[in-house]
Amino acid sequence: MPVTGVFGGTFDPMHLAHLRIVRALRDELQLHEAEDCIRVIPTGFPPHRAQAVASNEQRLEMCRLTIGNEPGLLLDDRELRRDRFCYTVETLAELRGELGASAPIVFLMGADSLTHFHTWHDWRHILDLAHLAVAARPGSDLTHGLNPTVAHLLSENATSPSRPTLSHGKIYVLSTPPEDVSATELRSRLRSEQGTEGLLAEPVRRFILDNRLYR
Ligand code: ATP
Repeated sequence: MPVTGVFGGTFDPMHLAHLRIVRALRDELQLHEAEDCIRVIPTGFPPHRAQAVASNEQRLEMCRLTIGNEPGLLLDDRELRRDRFCYTVETLAELRGELGASAPIVFLMGADSLTHFHTWHDWRHILDLAHLAVAARPGSDLTHGLNPTVAHLLSENATSPSRPTLSHGKIYVLSTPPEDVSATELRSRLRSEQGTEGLLAEPVRRFILDNRLYR
C-alpha cells in the first residue's frame, strides 16, 4: 500500500531544515516505493488577510525551487487555490477522501508544532485521519515541554520510525538531530543583509535577491 507524507507550513521561505526533515521522514519511514510520495503543502492566506511576508505565489515558487528534483516529493498547491485559510484537519480529511480509508497518511511537523498541537483546530480528530511524524527542533522539549494532554497522546501512540502499515493513529518520533534554522531568523538575516550560507537552497537565495524579498 503506497504511503503519503504531508508537510504543511507557511514556508516563508522554505529553508534547508525543512528539506532535511522531509528527507528524514522519507528515509526513516522507508518511503522509497514508486507510488509513495510526500506532499509539500504551503498554507494559503487570502490576499486581503495576508499572514506571510511573501505572496502565496512567491512562497509556492520558493518551495518549488527548494524541492528541485528531490525524489518522492510533490508540491501540492491545494491550500493556495482556496479563497480562505484552510485548517490542517480539513486538508487531511480531503486527502483521506481521495486516497481511501486504508491508505497510510503521515503528517510531518517539527517538535515546536507538537508543543502547541492542542491549540490546533479540531486537533483530536487529526490522529483519526493520519499518523504524525515529529522532528526534533532546538528549544522544543518533547519530554518536559508538552501540554499534559498532548504528552498523554504522545506516550500512548509514540512509536519508533518504520514503514507505516496502518492508515493513521501513530506518532513517529524521528531521530534526525535538531537543526537551529527558522524562517523568522532567516528573514531577519536577509533584512540586515547577513549571510544565509547553508540555510537556503541556492536558487531560493537568488529568487529572494532578484525579487528584493524580505528587505
Ligand atoms: P517561522 O520561523 O516563520 O515560524 P518556520 O521556520 O517554523 O517558520 P514553518 O513554515 O512555520 O517554518 O514550518 C513548517 C513546519 O516545519 C512546522 O511543522 C515546523 O515545526 C517545521 N520546522 C521548521 N523549521 C524546523 C526546524 N529547524 N527543525 C524542525 N522542524 C522545523
